[in-house]
Amino acid sequence: MRSILILGGTTEARLLAGRLGAQADVAVTLSLAGRTRMPVTMPVPVVSGGFGGADGLARWLVERRIDLLIDATHPFAAIMSRNAAEASRQSGVRMIALRRPAWERRPGDRWTDAADPAGAIAALGPNPRRVFLALGRQEAHAANAAPWHDYLVRSVEPIEPRLTVPSARYILDRGPFAQADDLALLRDNGIDAIIAKNSGGAASYGKIAAAHDLGIEVILVARPPAPDVPTLGTVDEAVAAALHALGLTERGE
Ligand code: NAP
Repeated sequence: MRSILILGGTTEARLLAGRLGAQADVAVTLSLAGRTRMPVTMPVPVVSGGFGGADGLARWLVERRIDLLIDATHPFAAIMSRNAAEASRQSGVRMIALRRPAWERRPGDRWTDAADPAGAIAALGPNPRRVFLALGRQEAHAANAAPWHDYLVRSVEPIEPRLTVPSARYILDRGPFAQADDLALLRDNGIDAIIAKNSGGAASYGKIAAAHDLGIEVILVARPPAPDVPTLGTVDEAVAAALHALGLTERGE
């Protein structure tokens, strides 16, 4: 029996865990940060709450005799990805990463690049705008620096505390989001700018595609740098790479 630890918090991590967990000769554990109050049911045993930095993760990998570490965290979970690479180095446990490719600009997209959430808010400029803010619970508060805009804020988890700006409304929702629904949302709310992370993937691309159709500006926060580890872009590729790393073939054939 070979043991895999998947660092998750993404749809892809859950799908990957399901695929690898279905192998007869592989024991998979999925690790979550533990911040989501109603996590989706997971297909394999879950550990939650973190490891106490790179050293803690390295110890965990050795003590549990993990054969392969897979970083399938969100592209913006920069600390966890850095810790994973360092823990792999310290422990000698092999590591691969599953990271969905970033969205690429299409002709007709009105994209403005921002280095971070504060830069994205600053890029809105001095005149009041109607903004669809989809930065996530942890970064939404960057909007407090520009209280003259009107914000429609969508997040999976509630934004607590609320923004201090005078005009903000909140939508709680979890993707995937359909392009047609996002188009209606943007149009019905008179949105003229979207602020989002360049997360990549299909689940949250609906607003980007809708903005393209409506000619709305998208201010996209660039991804943080990722550590230099073997990286796959899809669940299929990650399954193949994981099994190859363990010297196995899919379904134990
Ligand atoms: P982060 O800043 O990179 O990590 C902060 C700390 O949280 C880590 O040092 C680690 O604690 C713990 N942690 C993060 N991911 C973990 C995991 N999968 N398993 C166990 N511990 C984890 O992470 P973040 O940006 O706050 O993201 C937290 C989680 O939400 C991640 O699982 C990520 O995949 C998911 N997520 C993030 C975003 C985003 O935009 N950042 C979006 C969607 C989903 P210790 O040092 O104690 O190990």
